[in-house]
Amino acid sequence: MKQYPYIIVGGGMTADAAVNGIRRRDRDGEILIISDEPFPPYQRPPLSKKLWLGMRMEETWLPGWQRQRGVTLLLGSAVAAIDAEARTVVLWTGAAYEYGQLLLATGGRPRTLDSGGSRVFYPGNMVEHIRLFQTLQEPTEVLVVGGGFIGSEMTAVLSSAGHSVTWLMAEREPFIDFLPDTLRSRVLQEYHAHGVALHGGQQVTGFETADSEVVAVTESGQRFQGSVAVAGLGFIPNDELARPLGLTAEKGGVKVDALLRTAQDGIWAAGDVSVLGAEGALMMHEDHAVTQGRRAGENMAGAAKPYDHLPFYYSDIYDFGYEAIGECRLTLDVVEDWVVPGEEGVVYYLMDGQVRGVLNWNVWDGVPKARDLIQSGQRWSKGELIGQIRN
Ligand SMILES: Cc1cc2nc3c(=O)[nH]c(=O)nc-3n(C[C@H](O)[C@H](O)[C@H](O)COP(=O)(O)OP(=O)(O)OC[C@H]3O[C@@H](n4cnc5c(N)ncnc54)[C@H](O)[C@@H]3O)c2cc1C
Repeated sequence: MKQYPYIIVGGGMTADAAVNGIRRRDRDGEILIISDEPFPPYQRPPLSKKLWLGMRMEETWLPGWQRQRGVTLLLGSAVAAIDAEARTVVLWTGAAYEYGQLLLATGGRPRTLDSGGSRVFYPGNMVEHIRLFQTLQEPTEVLVVGGGFIGSEMTAVLSSAGHSVTWLMAEREPFIDFLPDTLRSRVLQEYHAHGVALHGGQQVTGFETADSEVVAVTESGQRFQGSVAVAGLGFIPNDELARPLGLTAEKGGVKVDALLRTAQDGIWAAGDVSVLGAEGALMMHEDHAVTQGRRAGENMAGAAKPYDHLPFYYSDIYDFGYEAIGECRLTLDVVEDWVVPGEEGVVYYLMDGQVRGVLNWNVWDGVPKARDLIQSGQRWSKGELIGQIRN
């Protein structure tokens, strides 16, 4: 049986970053990446953004692992089980490999509804996006289901690309707990300007498909018809390999300590699948995947550095782009600092005068400063916050 000092299960952004992390400390140790996808590591965020607006598929590839010596990539190969005693991973094909250190970078997959055939799309990985891309070659009536970040981005890009979009969500309006009124109404105006028919308060429970149409059926019995449906219903962690080893958190995900170790010697986890600490939650964002993946790689190669990064996430909607860090929810006190209301500015979310979250709206390079404000624990008056981040 072939032995590798490092095996990474999953070939996403976390895996790519982990290779870079390992190579910071170990220039030669052989690395095996095992991925069940047919593609080398690629960036996922452009799939729901620039890919629809002219970006070429190959621009999403992450070249990091290719530049490193001693990295073998096994594509289209799913790991079926881990034998922690024997320190081996076993593929569904029966092939087995022995590891020195093993990283679980298996990410997450879209939550799905039981019903619905090939006209229902769950935009997660590249294969599903290509399938959707091939289907939407002509202007099409699309149902987008879900008011979260995938739903909001897919509605924006598909309506920009000339499709007629009906957007259904359980919430009364999108961003209802997140964006203050000034901003939310500006964003909704943009969706309306692109012809989006928005229906809030519609909990979709299933799909019916027939010939060339799909119908989304809601809890209240309403029916919405389109040619295809695109559902963004959240993601669930791919933690199945860790379950038999007792390494999963109650709400799902693989539990890790500050060094990103699981409770099993030689097994680490990072990225969308990991849950940090006893009170931790899943963090399914690029900055988290990249920084945690890199740190896991360094630690697998002996660094013993804690992961204490406060990650941000970002999104694009039409010509708006935002970066959010910390707790950005309207149950906190809100201070708005606009250059142009609804177009460019910063929203602070505070508790007892302390900054808990920051939203930079069409304001760039403000994440480090926002992180400092949150981590300082200092109390701020509204006047003191104005101009802290924006120019
Ligand atoms: C469409 C889309 C848009 C996004 N946009 C943004 C954004 O704008 N901003 C942002 O901050 N974040 C965004 N994200 C989130 C970000 O892309 C993820 O947080 C990041 O890609 C997670 O990387 P990962 O490597 O941990 O997991 P994944 O990317 O899920 O990769 C895990 C890989 O492991 C494979 N795998 C799973 N189980 C096995 C197994 N048993 N054997 C072999 N392989 C296995 C999976 O197939 C997958 O290839 C977006 C995500 C998606 C899907």
